[in-house]
Amino acid sequence: VVDTAAIQQLDTAHYMHPFTDHKALGEKGARVMVRGDGIYLWDSEGKKIVDGMSGLWCVNVGYGRTSISNAVYQQMETLPFYNSFFNTTNVPAVKLATKLAEIAPAGFNHVFFTGSGSEGNDTNVRMVRRYWDVLGHKDKHTIISRHNAYHGSTMAGASLGGMEGMHAQGGLPIPGIVHIGQPNYLESGRGMTEDEFGIEAASWLEKKILEVGVEKVAAFIGEPVQGAGGVIIPPKTYWPEIQRICDKYGILLIADEVICGFGRLGSWFASDLFGIKPDLITFAKGVTSGYVPLGGVLVGDRVAKVLIEQGGEFNHGFTYSGHPVACAAALENIRIIEDEKLVQRVANETGPYLNKRFAELADHPLVGYANSCGFVAGLNLVRKKAAVVHDHEAFDESLAVGMVCRGYMFNNGMIMRAVGDRMIIAPPLVMTTAQIDEMIALIRHCLDLTYADVKQ
Ligand code: PLP
Repeated sequence: VVDTAAIQQLDTAHYMHPFTDHKALGEKGARVMVRGDGIYLWDSEGKKIVDGMSGLWCVNVGYGRTSISNAVYQQMETLPFYNSFFNTTNVPAVKLATKLAEIAPAGFNHVFFTGSGSEGNDTNVRMVRRYWDVLGHKDKHTIISRHNAYHGSTMAGASLGGMEGMHAQGGLPIPGIVHIGQPNYLESGRGMTEDEFGIEAASWLEKKILEVGVEKVAAFIGEPVQGAGGVIIPPKTYWPEIQRICDKYGILLIADEVICGFGRLGSWFASDLFGIKPDLITFAKGVTSGYVPLGGVLVGDRVAKVLIEQGGEFNHGFTYSGHPVACAAALENIRIIEDEKLVQRVANETGPYLNKRFAELADHPLVGYANSCGFVAGLNLVRKKAAVVHDHEAFDESLAVGMVCRGYMFNNGMIMRAVGDRMIIAPPLVMTTAQIDEMIALIRHCLDLTYADVKQ
């Protein structure tokens, strides 16, 4: 039994949470999560909650997998740690690298391990700059990213990211990182079809390459579907056009698949789904379903060949690169995904069902726009609907309607995240069609409560 008040008091006294305004949290105290099983969480008061966010986009195989804890335990008993810096290696890291090369898109045969997605993106920055250095292009260091992107919290990760609030703290971005607009149809696609807008949004990359000078541009990075920015699903014309532009100018393409990888969109990697052939792929989260921290970069043959054959020592790495316990957890997690055919289920069964049920929410008077892709989805809360989505009337920001809605969800046993007035989900891939029904009913109920609260 957990003494909620005592834990909350100690939490307030000692624990600085990530991305938290502690003063605003005030006296209320944080909710204490104590247990998980499948798609459900329980808090210290015994309340059962549908985890619509898979923790933080990561618990793909759901909670309570004893085979993962057993794999972790066995590895801890055998060899809890060893590094791979000084011409040493370990069995789980080698097996995982081999497995990742098998499930990765064609042309990916090497892996660089890190402890997180942020470190993976820092690795990308150093790798692409090193790649061009080795080829004799010492000025080719600029990386183009997008507004509202999230690529992590380290100095390079937050710089690649396009979150203004993050840039404002700590003097970011670091030099050599520039941003273009995001492919957000609702925000910028007025007067265009989605397909037209996809081409238009991709053209911003070409403009930026020409503005910076192709001799200075190293790479473009993007999340196939922007996650933390609010589940921004690009028009289907966007990524092929981005690929064409990268190919035209010979710049490297980095896909940050920290959220999209490991089945979330109904394919092992979203690059395959969107028909792109990146040179580097960042991964984390779903690789272990979050049970143990692990991240890294899948290194495509173009980059690997140059770094391995001509690059000499790459002066980069982490104590926990290739951590045997994390790699053991990942191997078992991937075995579960394969064994239970979770990727195929999201592609052919539960994904399409979730997409259909989620789209139905657009009939709610509060919902202006609802869209989804595989097991990510988002809906926009609006004050008044119009015939054309771009004409919907938004709520006054000061009302923080998204946060009001998130509160109703939280109190009624549903975790749904708010990004401004866009409500988003990314449920565990094990969610069944019956559980999707349960979740949609909860969401609809909480939309009703929010509507009754904020309608004017
Ligand atoms: N990249 C993307 C697309 C992410 O969503 C995240 C985390 O949410 C990261 C990178 C950073 O990963 P981590 O928090 O493991 O450092």
